[in-house]
Amino acid sequence: MLNLSIVLEDSARQQPDRTAIVFGELRLPYSLVDTIANQVANLLVSRGVGKGDRVALACPNLPYFPFVYYGILKTGATVVPLNVLLQPREIAYHLRDAEAKAFFCFEGTPELPLGERGRAGFDDSELTEHFFVLPATAFATESEHGETLWAALDGVPGQFQTVQTAPDDTAVILYTSGTTGQPKGAELSHQNMLLNAMVSDEMFPRAEEGDAFLAALPLFHSFGQTTVLNLGFRRRATVVLMPRFEPGPALELMRAENVTLFAGVPTMYWAMLTRVHEGGDEVPTSLKVAVSGGASLPGEVLRDFEATFGIGILEGYGLSETSPVASFNQLGRPTKPGTIGTPVWGVEMRLIDGDWKTVEGDGPGEIAIRGHNVMKGYYNRPEATAEVMNDGWFRTGDIAVRDSDGYYSIIDRAKDMIIRGGFNVYPREVEEVLMTHPAVSLAAVVGVPHDSHGEEVKAYVIRVQGATLTEEELAAWAKENMAAYKYPRFVEFRDALPMTATGKILKRELR
Ligand code: AMP
Repeated sequence: MLNLSIVLEDSARQQPDRTAIVFGELRLPYSLVDTIANQVANLLVSRGVGKGDRVALACPNLPYFPFVYYGILKTGATVVPLNVLLQPREIAYHLRDAEAKAFFCFEGTPELPLGERGRAGFDDSELTEHFFVLPATAFATESEHGETLWAALDGVPGQFQTVQTAPDDTAVILYTSGTTGQPKGAELSHQNMLLNAMVSDEMFPRAEEGDAFLAALPLFHSFGQTTVLNLGFRRRATVVLMPRFEPGPALELMRAENVTLFAGVPTMYWAMLTRVHEGGDEVPTSLKVAVSGGASLPGEVLRDFEATFGIGILEGYGLSETSPVASFNQLGRPTKPGTIGTPVWGVEMRLIDGDWKTVEGDGPGEIAIRGHNVMKGYYNRPEATAEVMNDGWFRTGDIAVRDSDGYYSIIDRAKDMIIRGGFNVYPREVEEVLMTHPAVSLAAVVGVPHDSHGEEVKAYVIRVQGATLTEEELAAWAKENMAAYKYPRFVEFRDALPMTATGKILKRELR
């Protein structure tokens, strides 16, 4: 049966010399990436790790990521990618929760002391038996944090017979807070992940010889893993790695490597546009496809991108629990800006109420999803799983409406909704209005506690460079342009907004 590692293996067989990975000066052909992944698989097997085990990986977008990710998969074991910003206590929690038998951890840099944190988390985890350091210096055989990958791979053969897996065997466990509570591991099967990469690929134009993807989204997150790494490898494209997204270097890499495909979260598009307008950066001309997901794409960003880059942005929607792609503005169908498109092939969506009943008409309601992309459940958490799954349907916590052509539009996340004096305020709607103000560059709206109204609407705003607008002026303008219960009574200017490692605005922190 197909193992997800086929996306690498098939490309290595068919196009061994094609460049799979670009990282700085390094250009690694598919054959080499596959050989090193085979070595990682042999290493794990020699240490008694294989099918039925889980192996954690904490690594930014570096060549190590695909080496280890596919190496683990080849053994039939499950990959548990970890967010690289976790602290030791959190790392220990994830290792324990996933019952990980081995842990590959990047040694880190002064800005990202991951090796130190990883080692502390590992020492604290008890259960995890093996620790491998992915050193910051290529091929280094020593590290203060433990055995390095290169020392462990010394003399290990580069051929490996990939272990057969059943479609429902778990390929990856992706940690997510879901709609509530502590991080939980969404268990995704080989079938979930492979089909999601394949149906997502259908939404891109046909693969071409020189296709290059920019991997700016972290590969440890579902969005980057499926739509950049697995999809990119399966279509034999070149994946250009960026360990950390920054708009200037991203644009530079796009130009230098003739990047044709870019997948990103809205803040990445916003940051690149700001760079072009305020920093004078040149627009790359090679880009053919731009996709956005992970958060709502503000209308202003979409319009600006179209005008500046000369191509549209296709918006899609999904969650870690749905591998992640669930709906998309698909090729061959009219795209509708401001919507998340229609469900992808083999996936159903409906709008439900709190009791799982389908809501009448076109909503609003909570999106529920059923199909090949829905996770098996949360690892070792039957109760949390039962809360979100019913008869194959998964409830997302996202509120949406549907138009007469079947296109869905997200109104907001249920938990981000503000209830002000009994009225529902959807932050996204307020943000969209604020961003039409010429002096507003980016806006994030949250609810803050209020004595008489329960909650009050507050906007955090980044201004356009050089703008002189005051907080009072913007609040007064908002009052003119929005219903009385919606407009932000409080406005605060910021130079930057807190973001997750993926680039989503961290509303929790703003609240
Ligand atoms: P994650 O599990 O980290 O991928 O986060 C999934 C969440 O991201 C969803 O539940 C949505 O709230 C949000 N999301 C993803 N795509 C979109 C989109 N196109 N528009 C609005 N929200 C989105």
